[in-house]
Amino acid sequence: MKEDGGGGDSIAPTSDTDWCVVEEGFSPAREPQLESSLTVANGYLGTRGSLSERSSVTSLATFLAGAFVTNPEAGSVPELVVIPDWTHVQISVEGTALSLETGNWVEHRRILDFRQGILWREGVQRDTGGRLTHLRSLRLASLHDRRLLLQTTVITAENYAGRLEIEARVEAQAQKWLQWTLMPSTTPNDPIVMQTTVGSGMTIALVVASQLNGSHAARPERTVECRNGGLAERWIAEVSMGESLVVTQIASIHASRKTAQLANAARKHLKEAAKQGSTSVIREHAERWRDRWKEADIEVIGDPGAQRALRFAIYHLISAANPEDDWSSVAARALTGETYKGHVFWDTEIYLLPFYTFTNPATARALLMYRYHTLPAARNKARALGYQGALYAWESTDSGEETTPDTTVTPGGELVRILTGDQEHHISADIAYAIWQYWQATEDESFFLEAGAEMLIETARFWASRSEPDADGRYHIRQVIGPDEYHETVDDDAYTNGMAQWNLRRGADVVALLQARWPHAWARVTKGFRLRREEPEIWLRIAASLETGRDARTGLFEQFHGYFRLEDVSKHRVSAIDVWEDRAWLQRSQAVKQADVVAMSALLWDQFPRDIHEVNFRYYEPRTAHGSSLSAAFHALVAARLGHMTEAGEYFKRAAAIDLANNLGNAAGGVHIGALGGLWQATVLGMAGMRLRDNGLAFDPHVPKGWQRLSFSVQWRRRQLSVIVGQNPVCMELHLAGEVPMEIEITDGPRVMIHPGDCLKSSYESGQWQAWRSVQSHSST
Ligand code: BGC
Repeated sequence: MKEDGGGGDSIAPTSDTDWCVVEEGFSPAREPQLESSLTVANGYLGTRGSLSERSSVTSLATFLAGAFVTNPEAGSVPELVVIPDWTHVQISVEGTALSLETGNWVEHRRILDFRQGILWREGVQRDTGGRLTHLRSLRLASLHDRRLLLQTTVITAENYAGRLEIEARVEAQAQKWLQWTLMPSTTPNDPIVMQTTVGSGMTIALVVASQLNGSHAARPERTVECRNGGLAERWIAEVSMGESLVVTQIASIHASRKTAQLANAARKHLKEAAKQGSTSVIREHAERWRDRWKEADIEVIGDPGAQRALRFAIYHLISAANPEDDWSSVAARALTGETYKGHVFWDTEIYLLPFYTFTNPATARALLMYRYHTLPAARNKARALGYQGALYAWESTDSGEETTPDTTVTPGGELVRILTGDQEHHISADIAYAIWQYWQATEDESFFLEAGAEMLIETARFWASRSEPDADGRYHIRQVIGPDEYHETVDDDAYTNGMAQWNLRRGADVVALLQARWPHAWARVTKGFRLRREEPEIWLRIAASLETGRDARTGLFEQFHGYFRLEDVSKHRVSAIDVWEDRAWLQRSQAVKQADVVAMSALLWDQFPRDIHEVNFRYYEPRTAHGSSLSAAFHALVAARLGHMTEAGEYFKRAAAIDLANNLGNAAGGVHIGALGGLWQATVLGMAGMRLRDNGLAFDPHVPKGWQRLSFSVQWRRRQLSVIVGQNPVCMELHLAGEVPMEIEITDGPRVMIHPGDCLKSSYESGQWQAWRSVQSHSST
């Protein structure tokens, strides 16, 4: 490592409390959830925020996106590979180990610095001899060079001279059945690589270099040991009073399905990074974070809690995905924890995609391309069940094959079948929805022609084969599970049918669009699946007579056939119920696990008048247990669109507390990335009421009391629109960057064509929106 002090000394943690989470002290009870929240990740690698010296509650892991391995135990499904831990540092002062659990700490804090994407740690331990040892460390997963992980620890002997022992260890721990081989180099002093090959044929190589720098002249004594399949580097140094030592650990991880010769590439990469020096690695990383924040930040003035929650959400959303990799997608707990084993659900397309589509379209494209690469598996799944087109896996890994476990053991010890993998089919329509939204927002023609159109058509085809005509003259979709997983094997689930109907119509639109606009591409697009001329018409016919469950008189959707006859639970609020707790009762009751009809409201908003959304929200909201982390944010979104700002604010807080306050009690298993994407949507699509239009964007702002000003930027067809929503009076200010004008619509207000460089304002006064007028840009005042 280049001698540059190594501690990133010229870089400091942000002192702005709107841009960080500060965790003081240490609490074993909170530690597991903090390890999730304090993860550093870059969409390729993610390292949990575990203490580098460990504690008795540590659950460490570094995950590699898209790399899966299956435990040979019968009945296991693939799970994300856990890379050998590279962060371990044990420091001893005169033979006594520094420990947060057993030591006496004068102060200790960890800071998750959203702005720079860095986890900082600072503390002072006093030992029984009165010696004060100061510790300051930083950890990052480089956003500039995604294969690189870095940790530096500065140890200062504040009031003593004495002997420090430092040990940096690399050990494979979590997956005992996965063998890592040590590969020493033939060149002396070259670092040892740890390598493995997983079942899917992927080879993974990890190389770590640790270095000790200090101000004193004497070289500390260093030993290297291979132990229990791991590596340990140890230094012993005599330090004088006030002296600092810096331990720098830098890890490089390479993975490939094409070659097993990765050791040299990993070593070379590591050497280059070491030559560059840690300060430069940190700087490049922090610059990339600054760039991402320029596109993605949301500012809320007047509500510091909401502000921090949104930046926490955006920090994790940026950390979760990699625009350079279109063969993997975001897991339900991203790269922050083991729950759901790294599997990809509908969470990605329905809860996360809007954030990427509107702030960093390249990332959205990569995530949708993952679905394109797994389209063959989706076709196979449909075929295996006797359907046509594409039925995506409910839980997906690298192959796209169904990886939902078949069974689970309930807390009461009962072995039960998991039916979601067989029955939760709405995912195909959810993926189609995200593709169409991306296409509308970006007009990314190459994606549409190469991949998007085919997926939209194949999913429409699936629904056509999945819908059955009946004697009542209607089509039905039977035996499914909707988002409300408390009820299994139901017929005509309103969400599933509503989204299927939407998918069938979009499929027909896509065919018409291709034929009209790209007649030459048409043949190429359909070559793999030969579309019959009459198919689009059949889709439209099925869509028109698909049972929707909507009562024409009341406007209420019946969540599924027979739901209204179940036990009413609206009088006493239902709280989150473990799906396995009382399954029989759940099936008999109206308790809804999560936003279901309400989720349909959020997604298909423009398809129905406001009254319909209102009546359904009023009916389903008191029956919903919010047993999934995905639920609260969509309730905030719909409440905001309806203008119920107290409820919107409460649901927003509830969604924000899922990871920050562990209010569902399961944050130790990783951050709930779908809920964090939902928070972004609740703000931009709910509070600001943003929706897509053919020639631009529409807004309908309603912000919670206390939010004096909400500002954010979105990308729309290669333009960047900055939006400010103010209160007292309610107003909107827009600024456009790009090359071409676009149209902006405000609900019940004037439309305007905004030109690049324009800054326009409209306010809601005397019961109506006033005409847009030119103003000076807020940021320039
Ligand atoms: C929810 C699903 C979700 C999954 C992963 C489940 O509890 O019901 O909708 O996809 O968690 O987040």
